[in-house]
Amino acid sequence: MAVRTILSIGHPVLRSATRRLTDDEITSPEVQDLIDDMVDTMRHARGAGIAANQIGEPVRVAVLEVTDNPRYPYKPQIPLTVAVNPVVEPIDNEVFVNNEGCLSVPLRGEVERYVNVRVRYEDRSGNHHDEVVRGLTAATWQHECDHLDGVLFVDRVVDPATLSTWEEFEAHHRDEFVERITAFVERVGS
Ligand code: ZN
Repeated sequence: MAVRTILSIGHPVLRSATRRLTDDEITSPEVQDLIDDMVDTMRHARGAGIAANQIGEPVRVAVLEVTDNPRYPYKPQIPLTVAVNPVVEPIDNEVFVNNEGCLSVPLRGEVERYVNVRVRYEDRSGNHHDEVVRGLTAATWQHECDHLDGVLFVDRVVDPATLSTWEEFEAHHRDEFVERITAFVERVGS
């Protein structure tokens, strides 16, 4: 178990598609160690998720977790989830505007995400999961699966004028965003 270095935008591995793992690979010590490192690194950086290529491993694995965070009280909780070979598929056309950040990008910005998506993945034991997730949780899944396809949220920012550093976001945009997204979370239930 170790906290690993998180790579930043510009590193080629963030732009490479990742490789799916076989069932034998998932349960191998190497991949189990990688998963442990991803959890440690995500928690250390206080992120809601991290993809394997963000720590330099071009394999299709992401971990997600949102626990009580006084800084982001509007964020619905996500229990620790290890997603191997995840696939996200929208189940309708409803979208919302999210304001996203990323452990690999020193900016935040507005991105359109699907509200309702189906996620299929294997856990760290190789068990298959097939679930429907909504709202901010759905956005987190879309963000992490984008990483595994070599896509960063900045690619999806429709209006570059919404890009902001964290400091300027806190000073000028956070209150409006929290108000809007809290009403959204209440409406969709997650
Ligand atoms: Zn990210």
